[in-house]
Amino acid sequence: MLVLDLDETRWHGIPDPEAAGGHQFLLRPHLQFFLGSVAGPYALAVWTAATEDWMSQGLRVIALETGFDLAEQAFFLWHRERCTWRRTDEGNYELRKPARKFRAKWIRARYPGHRVLAVDDQPSNYLCGYGHLVRVHGWTGDPEDQELRALADYLMSIAHQPDLRRLEKRHWRSGRPPGPLDHA
Ligand SMILES: [Mg+2]
Repeated sequence: MLVLDLDETRWHGIPDPEAAGGHQFLLRPHLQFFLGSVAGPYALAVWTAATEDWMSQGLRVIALETGFDLAEQAFFLWHRERCTWRRTDEGNYELRKPARKFRAKWIRARYPGHRVLAVDDQPSNYLCGYGHLVRVHGWTGDPEDQELRALADYLMSIAHQPDLRRLEKRHWRSGRPPGPLDHA
């Protein structure tokens, strides 16, 4: 299962009073290619720290512009209410995506922890679940961005690894062959 972040990973939302809902969603280059590729070997799910309304608006744009209905296909659609607030060392509050929620029985029955990956541009979201994380660069509108194309190729190359959580994924762009995490 591949759990996808949305903001700055799939799209960049900007205020636009002319647009329906008051926002315009720019889709990241190669999103259609990405979704079409990874939907083969992976079950897809969504986890965003944004509100449900924002998520639904953006997913409609994805369906319209790519023909891929992620909202329809996703194993789950999680938004802000599934996140947890955490106090940082500086005394601010930040949203987190606690990976322990992947251990819910109804998820584990089909996708045990070692078969779950999460794609996110903010590693702090997964402070307690780094093993699941494939980190991507945040995107705010560069039309030349190639991240999703490279990421799709990478995810396809590791899809059949037996333990996705223990796979070293921090250097995924280097094209190094996949190997286990070095647990010293
Ligand atoms: Mg994000």
